[in-house]
Amino acid sequence: MTTGNAPGIAGELFRVLAFAADKHRNQRRKDAEASPYINHPIALANLLTNEGGVEELEVLCAAVLHDTIEDTQTTPEELEQVFGPRIASIVLEVTDDKSLEKHVRKQLQVEHAPHCSREAKLVKLADKICNLRDMLASAPAGWSIERKLDYFDWAARVVAGLRGTHGGLEAMFDEVYARRMDVA
Ligand code: NDP
Ligand code: ZN
Repeated sequence: MTTGNAPGIAGELFRVLAFAADKHRNQRRKDAEASPYINHPIALANLLTNEGGVEELEVLCAAVLHDTIEDTQTTPEELEQVFGPRIASIVLEVTDDKSLEKHVRKQLQVEHAPHCSREAKLVKLADKICNLRDMLASAPAGWSIERKLDYFDWAARVVAGLRGTHGGLEAMFDEVYARRMDVA
């Protein structure tokens, strides 16, 4: 079956995957194995759709692209041009301003969370769930137990401002947070 010139859902998803994979191609996660960075954005989209039942294409595309502005040379204008203003604006909402000091950025995430759009809140929920799961399964190399526990607590403060968005994802967050003592 053909859908004419419209790329279709699969086409759009593969387009964002190809774009993000290219942008993150030289980056690695912080775990001991230094896993390919792209595993993380894929994990967010996979969690949103296959565990959370989220099928909104713009949310899934923004999840795949969520770290491109923050962690690569990608600009908001580029995302807008290639994927349109809605996806670009969701990604921008979940992007930290790296010109600020880290502790300020962390605090701003807590303060901004309640004011994000519903779409950005879904991406942020998935990001925190995936990062806590990673923290349990393959934490950043060299992190002390105290630092990992600090990270769990900060994530919980951000998620407090995202509640009322998606009960299933919030329960998944609570489930992984409840395992925080397993980081020891
Ligand atoms: P960072 O922001 O430096 O690192 C965490 C981020 O790394 C995640 O949000 C995630 O971001 C990314 N990431 C990459 N690989 C992994 C992985 N395998 N597992 C999980 N996340 C990964 O962390 P902080 O500096 O905020 O440290 C956490 C806490 O520790 C803070 O509360 C801070 O105050 C405290 N701290 C303690 C220190 C100590 O020595 N005790 C020193 C410094 C901080 P993304 O999704 O964007 O990729
Ligand atoms: Zn992320």
